[in-house]
Amino acid sequence: MRYLSTRAASSNTTGRKRFCEILLEGLAPDGGLYLPESYPQVDGATLAKWRGLSYADLAFEVLSLYIDDIPCADLKAICHKTYTPEVFGTEAIVPLRQLEPGLYLEALSNGPTLAFKDMAMQLLGNLFEYELARRGEELNILGATSGDTGSAAEYAMRGKKGVRVFMTSPKGRMSPFQQAQMFSLQDANIHNIAIAGVFDDCQDIVKAVSNDLEFKRKYRIGTVNSINWARLMAQVVYYFAGYFQATRSNTEQVSFAVPSGNFGNVCAGHVARMMGLPVRKLVVATNENDVLDEFFRTGMYRVRASADTHETSSPSMDISKASNFERFVFDLLGRDGAKVKNLFHDQLNDHAFFDLKDDAAFASAGVRYGFASGKSTHADRLDTLRDTFKRFDTMIDTHTADGVKVARAYMEAGVPMIVLETALPIKFAATIEEALGRMPDRPAKFEGIEALPKRVRELPADAVAIKRYIAENVH
Ligand SMILES: *Cc1c(COP(=O)(O)O)cnc(C)c1O
Repeated sequence: MRYLSTRAASSNTTGRKRFCEILLEGLAPDGGLYLPESYPQVDGATLAKWRGLSYADLAFEVLSLYIDDIPCADLKAICHKTYTPEVFGTEAIVPLRQLEPGLYLEALSNGPTLAFKDMAMQLLGNLFEYELARRGEELNILGATSGDTGSAAEYAMRGKKGVRVFMTSPKGRMSPFQQAQMFSLQDANIHNIAIAGVFDDCQDIVKAVSNDLEFKRKYRIGTVNSINWARLMAQVVYYFAGYFQATRSNTEQVSFAVPSGNFGNVCAGHVARMMGLPVRKLVVATNENDVLDEFFRTGMYRVRASADTHETSSPSMDISKASNFERFVFDLLGRDGAKVKNLFHDQLNDHAFFDLKDDAAFASAGVRYGFASGKSTHADRLDTLRDTFKRFDTMIDTHTADGVKVARAYMEAGVPMIVLETALPIKFAATIEEALGRMPDRPAKFEGIEALPKRVRELPADAVAIKRYIAENVH
């Protein structure tokens, strides 16, 4: 299996890379995102074979279709080390539960940080450690977070050999629970940096440091953001696992509803569907930041300015643009890298939008690729939280509530609708309390974490200060 950039000319096959070459990389050098040359096809016989597998074995089967430069035995060991009941809470790893006939929740949020990002990040931690040891190299991960990504990265990389994490976050802006989760880590290789500024300042600093190529090379700076192919690939597995739990035979179809921000999660669903998983609809649920809903309704992809990006009660979906969306558009446009480059580089730089309304390909987003979309607001979120609690005695989080709200518009008789549960309610307690008049339950292992000693360095919103801090802490 080789990987190409979404902006590569289709005639250029020389620049294609193997999995371990792109594992530690972010964007492709031409600014595009990596995708496999083709999607491996999974037929009925293979689905039948996979149906009875444990999650770790299923992960190994899916991953080995995309990775041919790690020996099988090693890859299998990595999968088994990653997906354990000790880390994810149950034997099923991603248990499915029925809310009402035809409507299901797939639990992806029982990992160490209680959000679905653990599903991929825990694997990434083990893959990084393996590959860095093999190369005899080290990596310093520099990131910016407003909550879920940073904590998932830290819990995945803590104690890992060859890896350090430098995670910036806007001082005082994360929920107390999220701050406690991150800042209570005492591992020597984890560095929390609270920046006097907002999330955009953190992102600007990461960009500035990464653009200093000499510093980047000298200090072996890397990232773990959601455009990393390995993260997306890891997420493909739970679409298969959800399908097997919701159906009895491989002739049945299911639909998925996915609370979406950067389009990473639902893009993994697209990949699973392209591989042949019988998925009818992929329902993209957005909050008030409806960049993606607007596209799937109208064909217009319009990047929002910072001032037009709303702070909502499902904050992990507050995006101005969807960084993984380019992958889907590449497939939608028949894998025409030149066209993708024109849209995502030229048009977005010049106009901050592109419009596919009159492109014949746009019609196929729904018909051929199964995409549908909808938007959920704060009022919808509160209604859905209350309704789900009252009728099904189930407390969900605000992002999952957006998924449930939008899913209801696309339910069809005979087609199970699986909503991906992307976080547990305790992470967003204030809105749960607003909706239900009580605090969400807290898993026992998080009892009292706010009182634990905190390990965090406060720094000004200044790339020079961050570079100095990194230099002092890399030996
Ligand atoms: C990251 C996140 C999302 C959005 O996922 P994308 O892959 O960016 O679309 C949704 N819900 C929660 C809780 C998240 O942490």
